[in-house]
Amino acid sequence: MIRVSDITAYLKCPRMYYFMNSGQELIKEPTVEYIQRLLLKEMALIYGTALNEGNALCALNDELDRLSDELRIIYRQELAEASDDVLNNAVSGVRTLLEGISSNLSSEHYSRMCELEPALRSEKCGLAGSPDKLITIGDELAPAIIKTGAMPENGVWKSDRLQLTAYAILVEEIYNTVVTRGFVEYARWGKVREVTIKRHERRKVLQVRDRVRKIEEGFMPEKPVDAPCEHCGFTGICDVKSTLASRFF
Ligand code: SF4
Repeated sequence: MIRVSDITAYLKCPRMYYFMNSGQELIKEPTVEYIQRLLLKEMALIYGTALNEGNALCALNDELDRLSDELRIIYRQELAEASDDVLNNAVSGVRTLLEGISSNLSSEHYSRMCELEPALRSEKCGLAGSPDKLITIGDELAPAIIKTGAMPENGVWKSDRLQLTAYAILVEEIYNTVVTRGFVEYARWGKVREVTIKRHERRKVLQVRDRVRKIEEGFMPEKPVDAPCEHCGFTGICDVKSTLASRFF
């Protein structure tokens, strides 16, 4: 069974997925930026509640106060090595974003009924995963994902579009329905972008799923020319493995 997160990892770098699948641990330093992403992910889950409170900015500040105390409980393993200073800097950084976020929140989007992180699995399409939200709009279902990184000027990033398409395929199989759209929530801005699910991206998801299967069978993919090596925790072993692999392929 291929997880949608496997497809996302493959899209970042197929070789990164190869290392993760072969049991190598991806070293993620608990930097200020990394902790800010964790905070934003948690904050985004309550944007709808904050809007309902009337004073969204005040509610977001309260939530951030709560998270500054409780983030370590939620992310015990990820934050085991993080100092209080780094955590406090991350909280201060996110606090500066709250005014902008609160002014951008869409009451139409955030008032929709949704289920958080439903576990989806389909034997038929060989996929499993949990979108951040499964939204109900009338008799329609639409997956939504929360992104804490950069937001493109227009539309959404290609990898976000493919991730949503993979969830759409899963939802269709499980609920015997047709999913025509999904949403990407860019948490750092409080903005939401709607995505139309397209046929050629459905094909691409199935293609990537099959490539991921090959990697699980032991195939080592080539190092992509545009791989994000600068921020990768596997840089150290990747070059060595590359030399070894080139002897065989
Ligand atoms: S070092 Fe570069 S090519 Fe190797 S796994 Fe990381 S991102 Fe991919």
